[in-house]
Amino acid sequence: MPVPKRKTGRSVTNSRRSSHKLEAPARSVCPQCHQVKLPHRVCGECGYYDGKEIVETD
Ligand SMILES: [Zn+2]
Repeated sequence: MPVPKRKTGRSVTNSRRSSHKLEAPARSVCPQCHQVKLPHRVCGECGYYDGKEIVETD
């Protein structure tokens, strides 16, 4: 079984783990209904995107 030649140092371990943190997803406000929505996505509340109704809602 292959074994690492050297101990992985603290700085290498920490820099590898530097991307492990979770971040809150980006959000934007719908210009149609002013609800919070994901950017570049059709609004889940009113179904509008770019000023047009894309998905029909009740
Ligand atoms: Zn909306």
